[in-house]
Amino acid sequence: MHITHDIHTHNLYSGCCYDPLANTENCIRKAMELGHTVFGISNHLWDESVPGASRWYQGQPISYGAEMKYAFPERTGEMKLLFGVETEYCGMTDTLGMRAEHASAFDYVLVPHSHLHMRNFVIAETEDVKNCRAEMTQTLSKVYPELSEATVKKMVSALQMEDMLPLIAQPKVDYEQYLTDFLTQSLHSLLHNLEFRRLAAAVPTIIAHPLAPSACGNAYWRIVRGMDREQLWQCCREAAGLNVAFDVNLWTFHIQEQGLEDNPMVDVMRLAKSAGVKFSFGTDSHTVAGLAEIRHADAVADAIGLEPDDLCEIVRS
Ligand SMILES: [Zn+2]
Ligand SMILES: [Zn+2]
Repeated sequence: MHITHDIHTHNLYSGCCYDPLANTENCIRKAMELGHTVFGISNHLWDESVPGASRWYQGQPISYGAEMKYAFPERTGEMKLLFGVETEYCGMTDTLGMRAEHASAFDYVLVPHSHLHMRNFVIAETEDVKNCRAEMTQTLSKVYPELSEATVKKMVSALQMEDMLPLIAQPKVDYEQYLTDFLTQSLHSLLHNLEFRRLAAAVPTIIAHPLAPSACGNAYWRIVRGMDREQLWQCCREAAGLNVAFDVNLWTFHIQEQGLEDNPMVDVMRLAKSAGVKFSFGTDSHTVAGLAEIRHADAVADAIGLEPDDLCEIVRS
């Protein structure tokens, strides 16, 4: 199937976009060059009326992200242009970063549950890792007494959970199992979150990169393979029932290294399809050039076995 849309994209309104060329105009121009029939920009935003934003999200309120729309051109030829958003879901506190009443300002909402790099916000750090971090802080302060306490804290907190694991002599928690369980549990709790259900009823809603263990390094495929298929099936049935689509997020397939045959993420998407879930495609690009990654979409669609009817409403031209 030929995919002619991309609705998971970021530009300079996302704090993690570092491409100075990625302003709204350039992204739209590139999308038109690529021949898209539907293009959506979905920056990371947190609804300022929801308490509990992390420091990073405090700089990404809706009022800021909405400014992006002023740069939308009046005409984009045959291409339908959508104003989207990628908000946040913190599984550890069951907090959705957007109220349903404010979500209707957008053409669609992407909701991630798998931003595992946002530790102690999206996912709680395990006790082992927390203790290890505390010990490392003490050691570093002793070795480098000239560094301020704040600098040492910054150095230690820059390490991801997986960086800490080799330093834990006798781990009490099976870390990979912890992440595996978290992914299915947080998808389940998201689908049962009342605000999320209101949001899904109010505006086209898509789970961003569902079940993709970000920031997990080598453990990525073991985690995807290890997820309980029966639990996944239940989640997919629930998503389908709520008319919540899945984002076929091209980076989550790691196509270059893994290929598409025997790709566990393709398996997960096949299961979702058989449960009745609808899909949209996204490059999750944070650069103008990265939008060209959409060229992998057709092969991914074919590997999953998607047909035009499997696409969700808003990406149909
Ligand atoms: Zn994301
Ligand atoms: Zn994204």
